[in-house]
Amino acid sequence: MDAPVLTVDLDALARNWRALDALSGTAETGAAVKADAYGLGLAPVAGALWGAGCRRFFVATLAEGIALRAILPDAAVHILNGVRGEGAAAARAHRLIPCLNAPHQVADWRAAGGGPCALQLDSGMARLGVQSGDLDAVLRDEADTLADCVLVMSHLACADEPAHPQNAAQRAAFEAMLPTVRAVAPRAEASLAATGGTLLGAEYRYDLVRCGIGLYGGLPFADAEPVVTLTAPIVQIRTIAAGDSVGYGASWTAARPSRIATLPLGYADGIHRALSSATYVVIDGRPAPLAGRVSMDLLTVDVTDHPHVDERGIVEIVGPHRGIDALAADAGTIGYEMLTALGTRYERRYKGATRN
Ligand SMILES: *Cc1c(COP(=O)(O)O)cnc(C)c1O
Repeated sequence: MDAPVLTVDLDALARNWRALDALSGTAETGAAVKADAYGLGLAPVAGALWGAGCRRFFVATLAEGIALRAILPDAAVHILNGVRGEGAAAARAHRLIPCLNAPHQVADWRAAGGGPCALQLDSGMARLGVQSGDLDAVLRDEADTLADCVLVMSHLACADEPAHPQNAAQRAAFEAMLPTVRAVAPRAEASLAATGGTLLGAEYRYDLVRCGIGLYGGLPFADAEPVVTLTAPIVQIRTIAAGDSVGYGASWTAARPSRIATLPLGYADGIHRALSSATYVVIDGRPAPLAGRVSMDLLTVDVTDHPHVDERGIVEIVGPHRGIDALAADAGTIGYEMLTALGTRYERRYKGATRN
């Protein structure tokens, strides 16, 4: 049985980076490649982005940073979650740049010997970063360590909603904290925007933008080129009578004599169970609705209105007729979660000459 195929178009990825880089004007365009490059494969994605001209990368964890260092020996690699304890020495040994988020992380970085680091500020998201009330103390107590700060950054909570008042509020809070950081760290560049912030306008871009989802073809970068295609072969087709049910829980009942095609992917492959009877796949350019529950390794599709499809047919789950965000919306989630949930069982094909 052939596996479902996940195709990643590295040329489209590179074009998305160039488009965002052109849009960000004088700001440098960094790339977020955390979570295995949003599930698409760290090595091919990072190689293609480096080939396009990207020199700064953001991962979430130390382990991701060490993996990326082995792929791109000369890239600037930032660890968004920062470091703690012995991790600080490991980050230093791999020339990784931790985003220090709290006084204890700054202290651990100093204890490991310090060096180039980033300082993350909490401008109102209440997730990561030094809070304004702690800033003066950490700048005073750790002035020597933070003199090596090369980047002062923060993250927007509502950048995908341009009219949301929190965008301007966070920008004002960031601006208010910048001078005190720069008094200690004169070299530090500033960064506030991910993909959404990059699109908000020049005043959000500062020296560096940190784009993730837009590179991978997802909203809020509506002009992104699609990067991901997901297709699956049909495993089996059966004919059932009106009144027969399909799948776990017998949750779908045929209203007419029906043909049901079974596909070899399920929720273990990131096809969320919430998609049961709630979305469609595409056959020969036309929709075919899911019939019944998504199971772990399989899903079932009503192909009654596709009389020509047979057991050698190939079905499009994500592709030219069906974007990742549209599928995500049917699952009640976002493109980011669809991508990072795709799992490890697909046959992965990488298209494009920029792979290194
Ligand atoms: C994930 C992340 C990014 C990239 O966000 P996108 O919305 O995917 O562009 C940038 N900065 C931080 C701090 C992040 O956590």
